[in-house]
Amino acid sequence: MEYEAVVGLEVHAELATSSKMFCACPVVDSTRAEPNTTVCPVCCGMPGVLPVVNQKAVDYGIRVALALECQVAHTSLFARKNYFYPDLPKGYQISQYEYPLAEHGRLYIRTAAGERAIRVHRVHLEEDTGKLTHVQNNGHSYSLVDLNRAGVPLLEIVSEPDMHTVEEVRAYAAGLRAILRCLGVNSGDMEKGVIRFEANVSIRPQGSQELGTRVEIKNLNSFRALERSMLYEVERQQRVLESGGQVRQETLGWNEAEGVTFSQRSKEEAHDYRYFPEPDLPPLVVEEEWVERLRAAQPELPFARMQRFEADFGLPEADARLLVEEVCVADYFEQAVQAAPDVPARSIANWMTGELFAWVNQCGEEFGHIRVSPQALADLVNRTQRGEINQNTAKTVLSEMLESGRSPAEIIQARGLGQISDAGAIGALVTGVLEANPKELASYLAGKETLSNWFFGQVMRAAKGQGNPQVIRAELERQLQARKAG
Ligand code: ADP
Ligand code: MG
Ligand code: ZN
Repeated sequence: MEYEAVVGLEVHAELATSSKMFCACPVVDSTRAEPNTTVCPVCCGMPGVLPVVNQKAVDYGIRVALALECQVAHTSLFARKNYFYPDLPKGYQISQYEYPLAEHGRLYIRTAAGERAIRVHRVHLEEDTGKLTHVQNNGHSYSLVDLNRAGVPLLEIVSEPDMHTVEEVRAYAAGLRAILRCLGVNSGDMEKGVIRFEANVSIRPQGSQELGTRVEIKNLNSFRALERSMLYEVERQQRVLESGGQVRQETLGWNEAEGVTFSQRSKEEAHDYRYFPEPDLPPLVVEEEWVERLRAAQPELPFARMQRFEADFGLPEADARLLVEEVCVADYFEQAVQAAPDVPARSIANWMTGELFAWVNQCGEEFGHIRVSPQALADLVNRTQRGEINQNTAKTVLSEMLESGRSPAEIIQARGLGQISDAGAIGALVTGVLEANPKELASYLAGKETLSNWFFGQVMRAAKGQGNPQVIRAELERQLQARKAG
């Protein structure tokens, strides 16, 4: 029997606000700050303190919801999700349950199979938990609790079970990350855990419309883990069904080293959490005017921008995709294209995805910090296009531009790199080479025509590699013909 995979994703994204969700504690880079230094009675769960909603976090949440074409609720409610865990000092997490911030959205993806929309079920606000570190030390094992992360605003984005292939899952996850970064609400630094995935995976007979029993794989911190765990589960469930068994609904962990999922607990149901409305917070009311103000300020989103780059600039998908991944890169591209109207945009794209990206990767530099302005890149590509310098020289010039921040004109001038296209200058070089090599010239005239390539090489060498090849060819041909005739 052929099976179809069915996947729904729950994505937790930290919101890059300056303070926490319900208190004034700063949000810090959890990989850098000393443990338990950004905490207060509210996020530590002391009795008798009251939470206050961070308006910026609501702003960010609405912007994501709008980017996902959701309906933003006029009134949503915070709810307590009760459970005990050492990284949750209050004994409950403030989340949203029956009345989330937003619902009914979609995210557009493109895979080799084409473009489609994945439905977004809901988007809601909640708070992050602290962080546990499990230590093994001289036979003792213990756990450390860091509450710096406790209370950091989290946005949970829940998809419908609409994905069926690993390509779709990857495109959805990457597309969502791109939106979060584009909106500036999340850095997208997966290694820092600012985006975490939970994959709900089931399988069903190909063609069936019913949903099979699903498992939920928790705490996936990378695209790789997301994809591998999904593939592993699909295969495992297939084996279970094929051997006549039934898939158990359960919560799984993912062992990255061994590449296997493992059972954490049989699936808890929502009622296990004893959700109830948060008595310390009023309903969250979002007036129409607030939503419309944010809607008006939304930037162009990565998917739309990619489509526009393909349509308007004739970029291949791979280039368009790379260029829209970061807003500053896409802006750079558009500025460079504007500064070089006579150059094909594709060629600007090539210089960026080739040379500039390579340099940025190699230096571990951020693209936004490179010293070559879009106008300077445009200038360089223009000069190459006009034949003033050749492709190889242009690469040399560009690397010097990146190092020194100097303009192409300065570098070409200072290093005498201008390509020689002047017919007079090249004519003199050709004459010089022919006269300096009478033996070869005689063999050529006696019929050894292949020597013209050798002469070409000599002239190029005399031009220190900076001669315009077309001009040299033409001039060489002209003088050789003249000598044949003469
Ligand atoms: P919970 O809150 O208990 O995790 P939800 O009903 O909110 O459960 O669903 C969570 C996720 O599971 C959603 O992304 C949903 O699309 C997905 N999902 C639900 N049923 C299935 C299924 N049978 N197969 C795959 N994914 C599913
Ligand atoms: Mg879940
Ligand atoms: Zn606090």
